[in-house]
Amino acid sequence: MANIGIMGGTFDPIHFGHLRAAEEVLQGFQLDRVIFVPAGNPPHKAGERISSAEHRYLMTVLATMDHPNFEVSRVEIDRPGFSYTLDTLREFRKRFPGDNLYFITGADAILSVHYWNGYRELFELADFIAVTRPGYSMESLDCLRPLIGEQCYSRIHVFTVTSLAISSSDIRDRVRKSLSIRYLTPETVRRYIERNGLYKD
Ligand code: NAP
Repeated sequence: MANIGIMGGTFDPIHFGHLRAAEEVLQGFQLDRVIFVPAGNPPHKAGERISSAEHRYLMTVLATMDHPNFEVSRVEIDRPGFSYTLDTLREFRKRFPGDNLYFITGADAILSVHYWNGYRELFELADFIAVTRPGYSMESLDCLRPLIGEQCYSRIHVFTVTSLAISSSDIRDRVRKSLSIRYLTPETVRRYIERNGLYKD
């Protein structure tokens, strides 16, 4: 039986905060691999300007290709319509019937999990790992307990990682202002952003 991490995010762009989080979760939860799943068409970002799914997918591939335990899935990119985590986890459950699944994402995103499609089933399909920065505690997610119930709540694991001070929105802001983003994201991703003129208005 394998332990499989499924790292969900918009990844616009992916950065060292995400990569370091995946690395620490891989070790901390003794996972066999982490599959990055760039959100195809995130329902909660309808109306927001985000880079094309293909750009975000390619940047995620560039960032993870040198890690033997990291992979990237096109499951949400290739599925038409809005990208619901429920459909993604159902798909991974089908692919890996006997394995343990851990859905990994930012704690801030998990705070709204009670609004996600079919959230009760989500917690039957996988455990959730809410990655967060130092200083953020499980109590910060306490407000979820009455909303989703004890059984679902017990499947959320808060995991503190080293370097979440980097954010995608800050990187986009810096590019817009022609400021350097070196050492915030892998060099391959930095060059991809530059060549494709991403985040310039
Ligand atoms: P978000 O609102 O963009 O992000 C919330 C916070 O979490 C941000 O600070 C973000 O930092 C951080 N974050 C996001 N992904 C992370 C990751 N993998 N590791 C560490 N930090 C992360 O959240 P999002 O990226 O759109 O959504 C996260 C996941 O939840 C996605 O897989 C999405 O599909 C899923 N989701 C599903 C539903 C649904 O099914 N209805 C609704 C909402 C979200 P950065 O900005 O630096 O990434």
